[in-house]
Amino acid sequence: MDRVLVLLASGLVLLAAVLALRPLLLRLSARAALRQQAQPLPPRWPSLVSESVPATRHLSDADRLNLLRASRELIRTRNWEGCQGVTLTEEIQLIIAAQACLLTLALPGEPFPGVREILVYPRTFVPRRVYDPRKWLHDDEPEHPSPLLGESWGNGVVVLSWEAVLEGAQNPADGSNVVLHEFAHELDYERHLTPPPPGLGRDMRPSVSDPEMWRRVLEESYERLCAKIEAHAPSVMNAYGGTNIAEFFAVATESFFEKPVELAREDPDLYAQLRSLYQQDPAPSLGS
Ligand SMILES: [Zn+2]
Repeated sequence: MDRVLVLLASGLVLLAAVLALRPLLLRLSARAALRQQAQPLPPRWPSLVSESVPATRHLSDADRLNLLRASRELIRTRNWEGCQGVTLTEEIQLIIAAQACLLTLALPGEPFPGVREILVYPRTFVPRRVYDPRKWLHDDEPEHPSPLLGESWGNGVVVLSWEAVLEGAQNPADGSNVVLHEFAHELDYERHLTPPPPGLGRDMRPSVSDPEMWRRVLEESYERLCAKIEAHAPSVMNAYGGTNIAEFFAVATESFFEKPVELAREDPDLYAQLRSLYQQDPAPSLGS
């Protein structure tokens, strides 16, 4: 009995000590993060990003600095791996990270906390396994998976083709960008933005300011795109967005950042929801 009391008392003392020290520990870790942020960026980064990722050229100086700092965090704190002969360089990492961090530029907190690993292949790659629970299987699904430009597994791993990354970066207004697409899937997983396919996981409440409105607008816009595809009518969004609602969100994100004026004109409600999600309004800054 005495031993139990002693153990209980020691536990309480330990808990009290942890609680008393918690504010100090939090302050120390916040200070360490600030120190890290304040470290100067490599001097060649601003010109490298400006040359290689033209989408960053319209950013203000403050936004560009934030983008570079977030990119540094993504590069430093995740596991990056070159596959099939790709030798990872700081340049490759920066060109990928800067595009990914465009999505989260105006969002608080660390970029993409759910991403652990970024794999870079030279060109298209054949997926090693089908892991993405959001990928709905169709009757016409090929027996052997076809080569991909990018893939997001939903378990913290993003796979990219370096050739497709470069092409996407160099054409910032064609509505197609593999980095924006795959990292949009990551944001979707982290914030439950689209419902999972029936029977595959629990539908969680989306982390957005108005979840009901978000889901309603997204589903209506998805249905409209499907109807357009069916009728062979033009859309600013790639027809791949008609695959399922998760792909629709990723494709809509590509259009939002790369063809914002056209998207705002074609689907103002969807544009408004994406503007609220990303806390950015690319249409005015890119001009009509
Ligand atoms: Zn996709």
